[in-house]
Amino acid sequence: MADAKTPLITLPTDTEEIDCPICGGKKRTWRCDEKGWKIWTCAQCGHTYVSPRPTEDFLKRYYESCYLSSSQDAGQQWEGKLGGIFESVIQSVDRYHPGRGDFLEVGAGFGGLLELADRNGWRVSGIEPSESGVATIRQRLGDRAAVYQGLFEEFDLPPNSFDCLAILNVIEHVRDPLSVCRKAFDLLRPNGCIVIRWPQMLFLNLMRKKMGAPEPELLGAPAHLHDFCDKSVRRMLAEAGFKDVRHCWSSTRDVFSSSRGVKRMLFRATKTLAYLTHVLSGGRLITPFVARLTLARKP
Ligand SMILES: [Zn+2]
Repeated sequence: MADAKTPLITLPTDTEEIDCPICGGKKRTWRCDEKGWKIWTCAQCGHTYVSPRPTEDFLKRYYESCYLSSSQDAGQQWEGKLGGIFESVIQSVDRYHPGRGDFLEVGAGFGGLLELADRNGWRVSGIEPSESGVATIRQRLGDRAAVYQGLFEEFDLPPNSFDCLAILNVIEHVRDPLSVCRKAFDLLRPNGCIVIRWPQMLFLNLMRKKMGAPEPELLGAPAHLHDFCDKSVRRMLAEAGFKDVRHCWSSTRDVFSSSRGVKRMLFRATKTLAYLTHVLSGGRLITPFVARLTLARKP
């Protein structure tokens, strides 16, 4: 039996209090707690973040123990549910940055995007922390892809080496997203483009909680440390030196692909509405609170 004095949820002691990691602002509003992590929104740039944030060491232990799947099957199943995300990334890059060259994906997973970029004429490279991901990419692409195992922050790649750098659903996990964007800026050649895919989670999940959903995930802390908004993504990219920031609609993961009924119908309707709003407005409008692709250029 558990000791009555032992709290059910323990926070690591190695955390650090931070100001807004995008603009450095100190003024903020408390939004909620999730599993003991405090979540705030910056009054200056609108960015939502976890503070105190976990240390690098804590996150390494956390991912090793409970987040990363080491099985190739699980990874490929997950990729099967992505429902057109990779295609929408390649199409958006094509429209924004016609031409080809060297393509780097940070957090390349099991190589689905790299395979598509390779088929579309890019020379591809990927950085991926998981061993099974790297093995699958090597199997799929052989010597057509340069693959590095580890974290982006740890690698010293030569500056001005890439024409496109993709970061899909990674930026919300990193402790310091601004330094990741600065590093991406250095690695790109002039006129090269960055493409980021980022979710918007907190608002909808807080609504679900208010409507009585039992124990909904809020931000997904401590795996997710950020909830971006259009304004904070623009600010982050501008701080890193990027220009011509453009937000695009991104296809959405088919989270209910294995279930039938009302949930799936509602999900499909929301996805279609987001897509139609984007297309009918000539690419100017995106319904709120759906994942975005954001592109920007190194001058
Ligand atoms: Zn801020």
